[in-house]
Amino acid sequence: MTIPRSRLCSRPLCAGDAQVLLLFDYETRLVELQAISDARDANLMELCVDHADRFRPPQGWSCQDTRAEKLTTGAADKEYTVRE
Ligand SMILES: [Zn+2]
Repeated sequence: MTIPRSRLCSRPLCAGDAQVLLLFDYETRLVELQAISDARDANLMELCVDHADRFRPPQGWSCQDTRAEKLTTGAADKEYTVRE
């Protein structure tokens, strides 16, 4: 089985390119958002930027976005804002 280098967002009905990895650490209940890499793991979810930005961790979990350290694009340093 070969895995194409360009991967799609894990969300159903989304055709966006997966660019963000979500790592679920079940011990510390921390979801970590990382820039996508070639590493592939069963605990990872791959989302497009749009869905990653909208992702909210499960109840009782915290969320850490580590992409900002690597990306220098304009949207990278925005904090999580709650929009109605
Ligand atoms: Zn998506």
